[in-house]
Amino acid sequence: MLTLLEKVLFLVALALSAYFGGLGFYRVYKAIVRGPKSFRFDHLPERVGRAFWQVVTQETIFKKRPFISALHAGVFYGFIFYVLVNVVDLAAGFYPIKTQGTAAWDVFNLLADLLTVMVLLGMTGLLIRRYLVRPYDFTWGPKVLLHEGVRAGIPRDSGIVGAFILFHVGSRFLDQAFILARGRLDPYQPFASFVARAFEGLPVGTLVAMEHLFWWFAIGSILAFIPYFPRTKHIHLIMAPVNLALKKEKTGALAPIDFEDESVEQYGAAKLEHLSWPRLLDAYSCIMCNRCAEVCPAVATGKALNPAALIINERYELDQLLPAFAAGAESPRILSEFALSDEALWACTTCNACVEVCPVGNEQVLHIVDIRRDKVMMQGEFPSELQNAFRNTERTGNPWGIGQDKRMDWALELGFPVPTVDQVEEPEVLYWVGCAASYDPRSQKIARSMVEILQASGKRWAVLGTKEKCTGDSARRAGNEYLFQQLARENIEQLNAVGAAEIVTTCPHCYHTIGNEYPDFGGHYQVTHHTEFIDRLTRSGELDVQPAISGDITYHDPCYLGRHNGVYEQPRSVLSSIGLQLTEPQRTREGSFCCGAGGAQFWKEEEPGAERVGANRYRELKETQASTIATGCPFCMQMFEVEATGDQEKPLEVLDIAELVARDLRTKREVLGPGGDAPGLRAPKA
Ligand code: SF4
Ligand code: SF4
Repeated sequence: MLTLLEKVLFLVALALSAYFGGLGFYRVYKAIVRGPKSFRFDHLPERVGRAFWQVVTQETIFKKRPFISALHAGVFYGFIFYVLVNVVDLAAGFYPIKTQGTAAWDVFNLLADLLTVMVLLGMTGLLIRRYLVRPYDFTWGPKVLLHEGVRAGIPRDSGIVGAFILFHVGSRFLDQAFILARGRLDPYQPFASFVARAFEGLPVGTLVAMEHLFWWFAIGSILAFIPYFPRTKHIHLIMAPVNLALKKEKTGALAPIDFEDESVEQYGAAKLEHLSWPRLLDAYSCIMCNRCAEVCPAVATGKALNPAALIINERYELDQLLPAFAAGAESPRILSEFALSDEALWACTTCNACVEVCPVGNEQVLHIVDIRRDKVMMQGEFPSELQNAFRNTERTGNPWGIGQDKRMDWALELGFPVPTVDQVEEPEVLYWVGCAASYDPRSQKIARSMVEILQASGKRWAVLGTKEKCTGDSARRAGNEYLFQQLARENIEQLNAVGAAEIVTTCPHCYHTIGNEYPDFGGHYQVTHHTEFIDRLTRSGELDVQPAISGDITYHDPCYLGRHNGVYEQPRSVLSSIGLQLTEPQRTREGSFCCGAGGAQFWKEEEPGAERVGANRYRELKETQASTIATGCPFCMQMFEVEATGDQEKPLEVLDIAELVARDLRTKREVLGPGGDAPGLRAPKA
């Protein structure tokens, strides 16, 4: 137990620590809530439950780096239990508590002893990795813009946090060993008892003095650390669970700007104060692990973009400015001044790999889109090729810039008229063709294949025809929210008038935009990707596919179908139902690697780097030894077509799943003949 003087000293230290720590946390809070409002409190019980589960199981950490994650889990569980340990130690300093001799104390002491060793080993392992092993994930590309504080700051901050944990837990361990050496060894504290043997025989006075000293080291280090806590990445202990709970439910769906609200003067983010609170919470949640950089296609291909650097740069700027920023001072421009270069801004494909892998629930891509919104709508500065795509879309309703009267030309080769909503009232299925399949000659084959499938299905279907316009996906990801909203409202008006039971798309970008983003503008529809549609019809027997074609195939998960919308099984199931042998590439499903087209990249030159994103992915797909790449996205298909065209050695065939299914149906027709029970090209149901 503490002496009276020690108790007084402790209370003074506690008051100082609470004051300075409280002030630090208050400033962090004020800084976070400065930006524009954002509502993330819907489905709160589910959100909290999900975050609790993720934190307790460390599920998001274990997505990558299993060994390092195990070390982190050891530190995490130990540190959580240490909250109770510290309360007990504090109480024992003030009151004569006997902490041994009952079953409950035995369990407590055993857990404390084991978890102490786990924390010490885990923390030592993490420090060895960071400072001695120094793996690739702590390095930065030469073109990445870094805040002036980052290069020296991260190792310093990690060192201080690591040293604090070792000092605090190590001191408590020795305190316990001196206590045991003065009394009797405890079988429920095997490690502390083992060390206590070394102290047996020391004079009682010395043991008591050491016990007090290490009590102060253990508890005092917490008091000393609290004021520093809001400045360290250790604050993720509090921020990460909150961030995980308040993460966007559909991570790729962007928040709309209310252009009718005249009080809004700034569109997008030029400075930190323009970022809404979830973005600033991201900066405070970041543990600077660089996992997002590890999976980013821009980083992998040597571009100037690094999503980890963006978030970390924001955090260092916030730390540097904190008191003034929390009080309302202006911050410097995010772009080019401290967080992101212009080149990096336009290198993002919005593939969501960074968001998917981030253990603390950060949404890096939303920062990038916010900054693009400022660049496009406030500064009017963006790559010139995007200028063409925007202008074409404004003029003709599609980024290709081909007249709306030519939108149905893809169907001419079919030799019969494709039903439009003017002929079919309230169709069971509205096939949303999309701009790529309407105008691009290669992608038009997907639309014609889809017609074969729809006819074989016997459904009453139609297309919007010349009433269909671009969904606005590319414009929105490029930062042109105004243009996107214009297109969204026009399309929604058409779709609402049609009242189709189901919309089927062959483009994951249309699928994502209509399904996840149009609801914000009053468009609520049942949207299905064609691979889901075909899979459903096959299972129900409405579409009679056979394992009629053969061959080795590999499948590329499009980012907007897989990671953004979780559709992984259906495309694979369709491929196997028509008899194809699927070989998975190394990066697959949630971990799939982008083709390089998303985020409006398709409409501009790729930013300079070591190689094209598409080339990196094509190489990996080729390594599967398959002869064909199956895709479910016209943009992925075109990116791989470019790579296959330049491939001098056995180029892969690139086909959409709709084309493969249509090929299967045709093969079957040929085998059975027109009089067989295979579905023929019959007139659509009116
Ligand atoms: S969305 Fe994709 S390209 Fe953009 S920063 Fe994240 S991982 Fe990189
Ligand atoms: S943003 Fe997430 S994944 Fe990236 S460094 Fe920070 S914590 Fe790690």
